[in-house]
Amino acid sequence: MAEITAPRGVKDVLPGESWKWAYVLDQFRTLAEGFGFSEVHLPIFEHTELFCRGIGDTTDVVEKEMYTFEDRAGRSLTLRPEATASMVRSYLENRMASGPQPVKLWCAGPMFRYERPQKGRYRQFWQLDVEVLGSVNPLVDVEIIELSLELYRRLGMANLEVVVNSVGCPACRPAYRKALQDYLRPHLGELCGSCKSRFDRNPLRILDCKNETCKALTEGAPDVMDSLCDECRDHFAAVRKRLDLLGASTRIDKRLVRGLDYYTKTAYEVLSGDLGAQNAVCGGGRYDNLAESIGGPHVPGVGFASGIERIVLTMEQQGCSFGREPSTDVYVIAVDGAASDEAVKLLYALRRQGLRAEMDYQGRSVKAQLKTASQAAFACFLGSDEVARSVVAVKEMATGNQEELLFDGAAAAIRSKLARQEDRRP
Ligand code: ATP
Ligand code: MG
Repeated sequence: MAEITAPRGVKDVLPGESWKWAYVLDQFRTLAEGFGFSEVHLPIFEHTELFCRGIGDTTDVVEKEMYTFEDRAGRSLTLRPEATASMVRSYLENRMASGPQPVKLWCAGPMFRYERPQKGRYRQFWQLDVEVLGSVNPLVDVEIIELSLELYRRLGMANLEVVVNSVGCPACRPAYRKALQDYLRPHLGELCGSCKSRFDRNPLRILDCKNETCKALTEGAPDVMDSLCDECRDHFAAVRKRLDLLGASTRIDKRLVRGLDYYTKTAYEVLSGDLGAQNAVCGGGRYDNLAESIGGPHVPGVGFASGIERIVLTMEQQGCSFGREPSTDVYVIAVDGAASDEAVKLLYALRRQGLRAEMDYQGRSVKAQLKTASQAAFACFLGSDEVARSVVAVKEMATGNQEELLFDGAAAAIRSKLARQEDRRP
C-alpha cells in the first residue's frame, strides 16, 4: 500500500522549527496584550456566505481560493481564508457594540486558501491578526500600523518597507473607479484575461495585477489621491501625520488596493526585502463597511493580518534571534539496574521542580546515555553505591565539575544551580 502523505500546499511544523513559531507567537501575544488587545478564539469554518458577502464576490480569495464544502446537512461551509470577517461576525453576534468602544481583539491561527504553493505561499498558513472595532478615529489606524511595526522591531527584523494608501469610501470611490475605467478603456484589449474580467466588476484590482503588461499599462493611471472626498483626504492626512510623529517611515503607494473588497480609507502593507516574490509580511487597513455588508449595522473597523511563515522566513534569512531553543536541563542516568527505581524517583522530583528532565527508556549503554547527556545542562548519576549512601552524583556539563548531593532535596538544589547558570548566560 502506498504511504499516505500530506495534501499539497500544507506543511508540518516540526520541533526544529516549532520553537521559533512559539517565540514569534509569544512576542506577539505580549505585545498585543500590552497594546490593550484581548484574545478571541474563532471557529475555523463559517457559513460560506460570510466570506462571499464580507470579502467580496469578485475578489481572488472568494472566486478562486476558498475551501468550500457541504456538511452532512447540505449547508455550504468554508474553511476561513482570513479572520477579519469572522471577527466582525463575532462582534455583531455577541453584541459587543453595547459595551465600551472601541473593542480591541486579537487572534492567531491557521487560514486556508487554494493557491499555487511556493516558498512563502501555502494552502494552510498561520496569521497573527488584530482588529479594532467601533472607532473612526485615525489614531486607531495608527495604533494598528504601529503595533505591526513594533512587533517586527521586537523580533529584530530589518529591511522592511511600509507602504500606505487610501482606497477611499463609497462616497468617492465610484468617481475613481470611473476615472480608472476611462483611462484603461483604450487599452482593454491589452490587459490580461483576469484584468479584462475585472474591468467592469472590480477595476481597482487591476492596479494590483502582477502581470507585466498590466503593470506597465497602469503606470500612468489616475492617482486615487486626486479623487478622495474631503473626509477621506483628512483621514489619510491625520494618519500620516501621526505616523511621521512616531518616526515610522512610510511610502505612499497609490497602486496599493489590497485583495479584499472591504477596505475603505487606509490600506497598508509591510514588505520584506528578503522574501522575493512573496514579499508581504503583513497587510491591513480600515474596513468601515464590512459589518453592513454581512447584514449588521454600521461598525467601523481597522486591523492587520501577518503571516507567521513569512515572518519566520524573514527572521531566518536575517539571522534574527528566536530566543533559546528548548533543551534538556537534566539527564538522569542509572549506571546499574539496582538504581533504576531511584532514578525514576529523581526524574519526577526534577520535573516537579519545573525542570526539563529526561532519562533513557531504550535500555541503551551508559556510554550511549552519556553522549545524550552531553547535550543537557546537568547529568545525574545513580548506581548501587550512591543509592546505599542516599546521594546522587551531579555533573555540570559545561564545566565538567562533579559533586555529590544528598538524594533528598537534590532536585531543588539542581534547580538553583541551573538558575545561577542562566544568570551567568550572556
Ligand atoms: P499576497 O499578495 O502575498 O497573496 P495577500 O494580500 O493575499 O498576500 P492578505 O490577505 O493580506 O494577503 O493576508 C495577510 C498576510 O497573510 C500576508 O501579508 C502574508 O504574510 C500572509 N499570507 C497570505 N496568504 C498566504 C499564503 N498563501 N501563505 C502564507 N502566507 C500568506
Ligand atoms: Mg493572496
